[in-house]
Formats: sequence, C-alpha cells, structure tokens
Amino acid sequence: MPITAFTRDGTEYVPLFLTAIDAAKCIGCGRCYKVCGRPVMTLRGVTEDGAIVEVSEDDDDDDDDGDIVRKIMVMVDAGACVGCGACNRVCPKDCQTHAAAEA
Ligand code: SF4
Ligand code: SF4
Repeated sequence: MPITAFTRDGTEYVPLFLTAIDAAKCIGCGRCYKVCGRPVMTLRGVTEDGAIVEVSEDDDDDDDDGDIVRKIMVMVDAGACVGCGACNRVCPKDCQTHAAAEA
C-alpha cells in the first residue's frame, strides 16, 4: 500500500517523493533547492575526474573550489521529502524522478 497524506480539508492523496536526480542531466541551476522547504538536497561540485565534492555556497566564482568543472544537485536526506512535487515542476532539465513510497 502506498503511503498517503491528507490535505487541509482532509482529502487523502498519494505524495510522490523525490527518489533520484540524474547527475548526467542536472545543470546545478538550484531551482529545485530554492522551492524545497525540506533538507532533502544540496549542491555539489563535479571535478575533472568525476569526483563529487563539496562547494562553498558563499563563493560562486569557483576560486576556492579547485578543479570543479560543473555543479549538480544531489540528495542528502531522501527521508526528509514530503512529496510535494515542487522540485519537479521547476526543473528545466526533467532530471528528477518521483514515486510513491510503500508503507
Ligand atoms: S518533492 Fe517537495 S519536499 Fe520532496 S524534494 Fe521535492 S520540493 Fe522537496
Ligand atoms: S532544478 Fe533540475 S537541473 Fe536545476 S539543480 Fe535541480 S535537478 Fe538540477
């Protein structure tokens, strides 16, 4: 049985939780992060050799980020997602996957 939730008026619905972000398609634009009210995602850097590393949120010019060649959004706490779907609606690259969770 899928996990269900309720709206303010008591209507039951099936939340669609974020289950994956396609690192090959993500451009690290941050739109999903901005609309999410939960600590599900964070921005990371990808180095020339493909390693995923932390980036400084205060420094967008990459001066202190070594050999970071691009940035991507990653999931850090999938269990914190409430399945609102906002991140999916704003993603310009359609790189997120959402699904119901089984109880
Ligand atoms: S579905 Fe909602 S709560 Fe879950 S990651 Fe996306 S914006 Fe955040
Ligand atoms: S909105 Fe899409 S492309 Fe932009 S950072 Fe999020 S997952 Fe990546």
